[in-house]
Amino acid sequence: MTRNMICIGCPMGCELTVEVEDGKAVSVTGNTCGIGKKYAETEVSAPTRMVTSTVMSDAGKPVPVKTRTAVPKEKIFDVVRIIKSTTLKLPVRIGDVAVSDAAGTGIDVIVTKDTAI
Ligand code: SF4
Repeated sequence: MTRNMICIGCPMGCELTVEVEDGKAVSVTGNTCGIGKKYAETEVSAPTRMVTSTVMSDAGKPVPVKTRTAVPKEKIFDVVRIIKSTTLKLPVRIGDVAVSDAAGTGIDVIVTKDTAI
């Protein structure tokens, strides 16, 4: 099977063609660098995404957050659900953990902007 996809590794957006056998990438073309090859291989076998969102604070201010690393695609809705049910006590600093082990992924959600009352 052939899959076509666009690499999201940088703004160049290379168009990748991936030959897939038994759920694994056996060849990748169209990539300009190794990131594209790795992206295609992961996208075919175990796709992941960074999750960025906001967590509400006790002062009613939204606090920008993101997952520390990319999350398995099938866990994204669970992670977002937990983020949306969380309230942070201000002030918070960049890098503070907003949610630890989000949805049992082992991945923390961290604050991306200093936020005070
Ligand atoms: S393959 Fe490399 S150059 Fe092309 S979009 Fe991906 S990261 Fe950018």
